[in-house]
Amino acid sequence: MKDDLIFIAQRWDIEFKHAAGETASTFFKAIMQRREILGRLCPKCKRVLLPPRSFCERCFVETSEWVKVGGEGKIQSFTIVYEKFEGLPPPPYAIAYVLLDGASTAMVNFVKGLDLNNLDQAIKKIKIGAKVKVAFKRKREGRITDFWYELV
Ligand SMILES: [Zn+2]
Repeated sequence: MKDDLIFIAQRWDIEFKHAAGETASTFFKAIMQRREILGRLCPKCKRVLLPPRSFCERCFVETSEWVKVGGEGKIQSFTIVYEKFEGLPPPPYAIAYVLLDGASTAMVNFVKGLDLNNLDQAIKKIKIGAKVKVAFKRKREGRITDFWYELV
C-alpha cells in the first residue's frame, strides 16, 4: 500500500434482482411448494451436497440427481449474534450449520425458539451435536428464510 494514496469511505445501497439459477430455483421451489429440502448427489463421491450445487467441488463433476434429505439433523457449528448487522434481523439471534439427515454437507440457517436474552441458559441448550428439526413458515416465498431450525 502506497502512503500517498487517499482512501474515501463510501456506502452503496443498491437494490437489485437476479436470477437464482436452475439449481437454486429447484431448491427454493421444493421448499416453497412442498416443504422439502433437496440436496444434489455427486455421482463420483456419492456425497449429497446441501445447499445443492450443480457441480461437486471435490470431484469437479456435475451432480446427477436430486435427493430429499431429512427434516432433522445435528448442529455442527453455531453462533449467537448480539450485534446489529446490516440486512440481518435485530439481535440477538442464533445461526447454526446443521448436517441434516441424509446430507453430506451442513447448511446454515437461523435457530429459533431459544431465549437468547439469557446467554447462560441459551448456551446450555444450543451445542455442537445437538439435535434440531426443520420448521417451515406457513406462507413461504422461495427464500432461505422460509425455514429455520429448532432444537428437538
Ligand atoms: Zn464428488
